[in-house]
Amino acid sequence: KSGFVTIIGRPNVGKSTLMNHLIGQKIAIMSDKPQTTRNRIQTILTNDLGQIVFIDTPGIHVPMTKLGEFMNTSAETTLNEVDVVLWLIEPDKKIGKGDRYIIERLARVETPVFLVINKMDTIAKNELLEVIATYKDQYNFKDIIPISALKGDNTDILLDQIFDVL
Ligand code: GDP
Ligand code: MG
Repeated sequence: KSGFVTIIGRPNVGKSTLMNHLIGQKIAIMSDKPQTTRNRIQTILTNDLGQIVFIDTPGIHVPMTKLGEFMNTSAETTLNEVDVVLWLIEPDKKIGKGDRYIIERLARVETPVFLVINKMDTIAKNELLEVIATYKDQYNFKDIIPISALKGDNTDILLDQIFDVL
């Protein structure tokens, strides 16, 4: 199995940590070679289940400028071109303005979206359940998966789920 995956999310939610963890123990090729003007290959993960090509997507922010608008349109195109979108968040029970904006954008995307709640090592289980409940009604996520990219908790489950839809 093989396919294209992109990870979106606010700065500091743990995107790089997750990427490093996923490719850490596995055979991977890092590439900076531009694929198209819009899509950039970040990393290729190869394991016994198959191959995942991670595509870099510009951050999606409430646009302040024409450039910001262009970046969002570009990001939206990427979201529609990949096979799986991972939306990485921190366990925060409040959905902020930026999150709401991302949800509005995702509504126009046909690609399956996994909500990945990172840093599960920082909160109690009952709080995690509240976060899941908060986000569940906001969008038709393919699934909601709590992980700790730092500790590697549930990251194998995340990979299995990704390969399941490829
Ligand atoms: P990015 O901006 O989304 O790429 O976020 P980074 O990967 O740079 O991570 C931002 C900070 O969050 C770093 O200090 C990480 O060590 C920390 N971090 C990432 N994942 C986890 C996690 O699962 N648990 C905890 N406690 N911290 C994490
Ligand atoms: Mg980063």
